[in-house]
Amino acid sequence: MLSEVTVGIDVGGTNTAVGLVDRDGGCLVQAAIPTLPERDARSLVARLSGKIGELHRPFSERSVIVGIGIGAPDANYYRGTVEHPPNLNWPGVTPIVALFRERFDVPVVVTNDANAAALGEMLFGAARGMRDFIVITLGTGLGSGLVANGELIYGADGFAGELGHTVVDPHGRQCACGQGGCLETYASATGICRTVFELLCDSKDESELRDVTFNELTAKRVSEAALRGDALALAAFEFTGRILGMKLADAVVHTSPEAIILVGGLANAADLIFAPTKRWMEEFLFPIFKGKVKLLPSGMPAGADPAVLGAAALIWAELAKARVGGGATRRSTE
Ligand SMILES: [Zn+2]
Repeated sequence: MLSEVTVGIDVGGTNTAVGLVDRDGGCLVQAAIPTLPERDARSLVARLSGKIGELHRPFSERSVIVGIGIGAPDANYYRGTVEHPPNLNWPGVTPIVALFRERFDVPVVVTNDANAAALGEMLFGAARGMRDFIVITLGTGLGSGLVANGELIYGADGFAGELGHTVVDPHGRQCACGQGGCLETYASATGICRTVFELLCDSKDESELRDVTFNELTAKRVSEAALRGDALALAAFEFTGRILGMKLADAVVHTSPEAIILVGGLANAADLIFAPTKRWMEEFLFPIFKGKVKLLPSGMPAGADPAVLGAAALIWAELAKARVGGGATRRSTE
């Protein structure tokens, strides 16, 4: 009997990762191709289709592809589209699900990468068995996936859970979205670099980061300096944790999560970011929630790309819903 596998695809600004994933989160095979963001979506879908065929060929005797899940920036779950992505030259609204359905006669679903990460944690990672949790991705920006009552929240227009664009300071840092002072301009891998430069300007303290140019500075570099005891790097983590902790305390009152899971580049700084974030979250929490909300790292299995597993989890969750007669599936896979 043929076993069932899904395809998980993570569309990034530079590379697009693709893999075949079984029901238990086992990744049979994975690969990455250049996104070539200057070309259109049809070109990417054509190249991905070829890659999927190539990846599946050695397994085609014993497995069948039953669905495709896609994590992509600015994706709309309901419409199956990617809409006005700033990092891809896909003008207007791209019907990414329809483009895949021209080539594959299986259900196809798209959502943003943070929602895919949330489903990945729910099916295969730190949120297994949880019905209420939030996943925060701390990469170039800050993404979030909100799960309440066991369901990912998409909201009225399909874009629910953009915590990265809630306002920290109305007169604050310029954000890529056009607004000012958004959370992601502070609490993200790029946000902490901006903080380091502000701290460098505002003080004359010694720091190994003084000799690094802005374009060379990375969150990893800030982490390394902090681990060596660099006071300014440690202050940058404290500042970031204060803002993130405050906004997570806000987020808690909306959905009462059991846990908040921090994933992505800046989350790799481990205790450097978890400790101040947890302390400040507790400080700002509405008293009835104090001491009740866990702050956890990703629990995704090692060895596979968590973004590919997340995208695969998206389609596994859809297939499970469809098999019990769920409704939302239809909207994006017809
Ligand atoms: Zn913004």
